[in-house]
Amino acid sequence: MAKFIVVTGGVLSGLGKGISTASIGKLLSANLKVVPIKCDGYLNTDPGTMNPIEHGEVFVLDDGGEVDMDFGHYERFLGTNTKFEWNLTMGKVFQEILENERIGKYLGKTVQYIPQVTDVIKQRFMSIARKEAADIVLIEIGGTVGDMENELYLEAVRQLGQELGRENVIYVHLTYVPKPSNTKEQKSKPTQQSVKLLNERGIWPSVIIGRADKTLNTTIKEKIAMFCNVEKEAVISGVDVSTVYEIPLLYNQEGLPAIMHKHLGIYSPPSLLDWEKLVHKIKSPDKKVTIAICGKYTALMDSYASIIEALVHSGAHLNTRVELKWLETTRIETGKTTSAKELSNIDGVIVPGGFGTRGIEGKIEVIRYARENKIPFLGLCYGMQLAVVEYARNVCSIKGANTTEIENGKIKVKEPVVCILPSQQKVTRKGGTMRLGGQDVAIKPNTQAFDIYKKRSIRQRFRHRYEINPKYVPKLEKNGLVFSGYHPKEKIMQLMELPGHPFFMGTQFHPELISKLETPEPLFYNLVKQALKFKERS
Ligand code: GLN
Repeated sequence: MAKFIVVTGGVLSGLGKGISTASIGKLLSANLKVVPIKCDGYLNTDPGTMNPIEHGEVFVLDDGGEVDMDFGHYERFLGTNTKFEWNLTMGKVFQEILENERIGKYLGKTVQYIPQVTDVIKQRFMSIARKEAADIVLIEIGGTVGDMENELYLEAVRQLGQELGRENVIYVHLTYVPKPSNTKEQKSKPTQQSVKLLNERGIWPSVIIGRADKTLNTTIKEKIAMFCNVEKEAVISGVDVSTVYEIPLLYNQEGLPAIMHKHLGIYSPPSLLDWEKLVHKIKSPDKKVTIAICGKYTALMDSYASIIEALVHSGAHLNTRVELKWLETTRIETGKTTSAKELSNIDGVIVPGGFGTRGIEGKIEVIRYARENKIPFLGLCYGMQLAVVEYARNVCSIKGANTTEIENGKIKVKEPVVCILPSQQKVTRKGGTMRLGGQDVAIKPNTQAFDIYKKRSIRQRFRHRYEINPKYVPKLEKNGLVFSGYHPKEKIMQLMELPGHPFFMGTQFHPELISKLETPEPLFYNLVKQALKFKERS
């Protein structure tokens, strides 16, 4: 039977519960099958329709699920593919409740939060554990203890512990240990109070991770242990670090695996040798490049989390620190600045995915500059579509080339070089209806893409409604653009490149979603490699 580790958060949000959960998973996953589950309190079915400014990046899974960005951490730390089912939301839970009620599953009964809703939550945990033959199910509860919207999850995990016993279910509480400037010492009171909130809900944590600027000293550990009813060894320091990939190493030094082993009666020594070497490279690399990320949400870095991580992974393998410059392309289209000015000290350019009209003329201008000045360029999804628009306008002389995504009652695109996918034409509902998830990409031989991937077929993840208009492909190709990756059966262009340019590539897919520290995604790796060369040349 699976063992369950439940991670809750206290005191305040933004402590990095997702990273902590992923790190615990990393420490146990060397010999055990760890399955992460994230419980979100909101009533959306999934985060797919939320604004990235509010919710951060929407992470897309191979099975097509749009899930919380914590799944990015889970996949990057555990090195596995996760599933849509593993992201519980109150939206999904209540959908099941209402369906059950309509088919008569609760005939004669009043449907209540307890037991009907908590039962659905527990059944989901158990069925995932069974289906996946999990050794460890790692349950992260969203939000902070005390938030109303997560109460039902807390009640469900309390019941789980009661039913399965303490040797099968343990609770880890992540809290904050501040050091106010006037006292200059670490304070345990917020932790005590937040553990009390958990106790009121019938949950007694076995492990407390205290987020702090410096390692928790013995006195504070003893104090937390005494007031919160945990062993002193089970009070773990979660200190601020320069790279999140260091966290499993720190937890390991603090003895977290041994505590887990003891409580759950398991044994799974972590294997962190390669990981440690890569972390060392992230922390003290010999080289440096600067890459500009040119988009519309650049104020909120969380909306580009996977891109940032993919660059960290590649940098670690190339002994290079990748510095980022955030370029808000709306500033270019309103004339506040120019691409020449903004890209003067840049070694590479990424135009990330996006939606809608705002900022796209600025992106097109940045792409032109990168193409003409031979700056390494990677266009992701919308970034590729706009690279094709730019090429159509400025190289193929197709005046009025654009994407039909900008069309509305007033605007009509004359030359739709990017148009809606046939499969999307009749779609009116919004949630989970894009072309989503993993697809095979056939790679054309004798291309840069083939040199990079060294394979005829790769698998990548997609999230889009528009595509390169197949009608324009012959003209674009005649003018030098190469579509080096395409759908094996349908006529969908999935990867493009420009011969004669050191690195000018665009993907209809999102390669950032599959990059891992130990196995960086090849396009990102080559972008950084080419950025290093560009820097040497200039
Ligand atoms: N808006 C574009 C489309 O729907 C690109 C999407 C994206 O960048 N993820 O096709």
